[in-house]
Amino acid sequence: MDFDLIVRGGTLPDGRVADIGIAGETIAAIEPELTAAAGTVIDARGNLISPPFVDPHFHMDATLSYGIPRINASGTLLEGIALWGELKPLLTHEAVRERALAYCDWAVSMGLLAIRTHVDVCDDRLLAVEALLEVKKTVAPYIDLQLVAFPQDGLYRSPTARQNTVRALDLGVDIVGGIPHFERTMADGTRSVTELCEIAAKRGLMVDLHCDETDDPLSRHIEQLAYETERLGLQGRVAGSHLTSMHSMDNYYVSKLLPLIAEAGVAAIPNPLINIMLQGRHDTFPKRRGLTRVKEMLALGIRVGWGQD
Ligand SMILES: [Zn+2]
Repeated sequence: MDFDLIVRGGTLPDGRVADIGIAGETIAAIEPELTAAAGTVIDARGNLISPPFVDPHFHMDATLSYGIPRINASGTLLEGIALWGELKPLLTHEAVRERALAYCDWAVSMGLLAIRTHVDVCDDRLLAVEALLEVKKTVAPYIDLQLVAFPQDGLYRSPTARQNTVRALDLGVDIVGGIPHFERTMADGTRSVTELCEIAAKRGLMVDLHCDETDDPLSRHIEQLAYETERLGLQGRVAGSHLTSMHSMDNYYVSKLLPLIAEAGVAAIPNPLINIMLQGRHDTFPKRRGLTRVKEMLALGIRVGWGQD
């Protein structure tokens, strides 16, 4: 059999060295040595060949904006959100689109072909939403780009966030987002989880909330997220991003919580690269790292996907 393309001598994820024969758009053979001919041959000796990488948590509307209009001096999430608030009114459609496309070029060059990005809807112009919907179309031939409608400043805390979230979904954004720990009260956070899950259930969408991204062990919105997932039959369609408060929670409570997350089929998306920088900033000593409980979740069969944020 002849192939359109043979990739020779690359190392597969399991450590084997093999030739890969591709016919049309199909991987037709993986063997130690293919003798067939091919239209194109790529020499991959010494390189890794793997399925595409997936980044399930990103903020493409903020990518490549470091230093605009200034840098985050305290290194905290709260200053980060405030800084993003300063940048937002200065954004233009073109600038968001060009930075996002530049990032997508980098992503593809590193083998990253599936990205879920949150997009802030707390700008009544919905400029970033429109720019990223355009980017999604542009990169569709090579990147599977999902958009999450993300009310960064709080679904209830920001006066127009609720209506803007719905507007963004109407424009074609794929997933319902939220940030319960940033609402004014725990009760509002809880209520936001319920309402966002109801919106998703009604529209047949997925849910991915920034959930408990704090060092406060009493931030327990993931509990409500698992509850609403069960109640509304959203199993397998819901993710909790960050979950850093779990680092600081008491073990007895976590021993009850994790099985409920597993039972509801809620996935976890930790973002350790960013959270080891952001969390524990208010601590003197000992300083917490603010990473969620990955090994314990995996042991219970909870799906975990690493994000870049
Ligand atoms: Zn995020």
